[in-house]
Amino acid sequence: MNLKDTNPSTPEGDMENVKCLIVGSGPAGYTAAIYAARANLNPVLIEGLQPGGQLTTTTEVDNFPGYADGVTGPAMMADLKKQAERFGTDCRWGLVTEVDFSIYPHKVIVDGKKVIMAETVILATGATAKYLGFPTEEKYMGSGVSACATCDGFFYRGLDVAVVGGGDTAAEEATYLAGLCRKVYLIVRKNYLRASKAMQDRVARTENIEVLYEHNTKELYGDGVVQGAKLIKRMGEADETEVDIKIDGYFVAIGHTPNSKIFSKYLKTDEQGYVLTEPDSTKTNVPGVFAAGDLKDPHYRQAITSAGSGCMAAMDAERFISERE
Ligand code: NDP
Repeated sequence: MNLKDTNPSTPEGDMENVKCLIVGSGPAGYTAAIYAARANLNPVLIEGLQPGGQLTTTTEVDNFPGYADGVTGPAMMADLKKQAERFGTDCRWGLVTEVDFSIYPHKVIVDGKKVIMAETVILATGATAKYLGFPTEEKYMGSGVSACATCDGFFYRGLDVAVVGGGDTAAEEATYLAGLCRKVYLIVRKNYLRASKAMQDRVARTENIEVLYEHNTKELYGDGVVQGAKLIKRMGEADETEVDIKIDGYFVAIGHTPNSKIFSKYLKTDEQGYVLTEPDSTKTNVPGVFAAGDLKDPHYRQAITSAGSGCMAAMDAERFISERE
């Protein structure tokens, strides 16, 4: 793309020019903001639909370095925001509704009306865990229902849990939990696992994982917290039966959806929608647009890895600007 300015930098009406616009307020977005602000890029950060990101739906975070006694997800995100603001980040409520990355500076529209022309854009809009969507799943969210074994598995040490899904994530989460829990049920709707052969072998070799093929969840039950699940075996078949399992935790691992839809017209993504970046970099295929965090990461998806790539994105943005000046 030719980066010759296609938009004059004169503000018109509700239009604003910024050096660095950050979209998203999870660990990647706030870390990018801390680094961008300290590099004098005067970042503006648009918080999005879920200020604080996925971590605001987690209770305890015990694996983020620096919090020796653990911290709640919302408290950690409040700390990150405070730190970003300490260096002058302008954090704003709002939702990016449209972008035009074919012009430069890049055009970003917030809440359908506010136009921001940005020399650099750091996208850190994350990914959304898919849930099954039945009523008791929602009811016990944070009280036994989780979509992240690495985040929450520790709280189920020595207990019995279930993981739903048949892909690599489910297989990985089940083997991770098997190292902490007494028993792990892996609830798979088909009669086979979709996970890679290597992961299937790991599941098969792990004695305390029981795979329940052709099972679907009907409901969860318990007094305030999950105490069990009612499953349907061979749903819709003549020999359909109800199965009751006693569990303390119910981990949903049926995939994530990267929040890349509104950028996908301009950015290269993989077949699942994860934004592709150059190796060891946060550069996307559009000069001046960088991607960080879960939006570009189908593998690690941890707060600390997101924060790390947010730092990289700010450094890449700073370098991009200084090379143009
Ligand atoms: P996948 O899309 O691969 O698998 C999702 C699983 O959830 C499938 O087994 C699917 O069942 C099941 N599922 C979906 N909807 C429902 C539902 N409503 N009820 C019950 N089960 C449901 O997602 P993953 O997150 O597992 O993996 C995403 C990508 O990331 C893959 O490419 C994977 O290989 C990769 N990955 C790689 C890892 C690694 O290399 N270490 C680790 C984790 C992920 P069905 O099979 O019936 O469709």
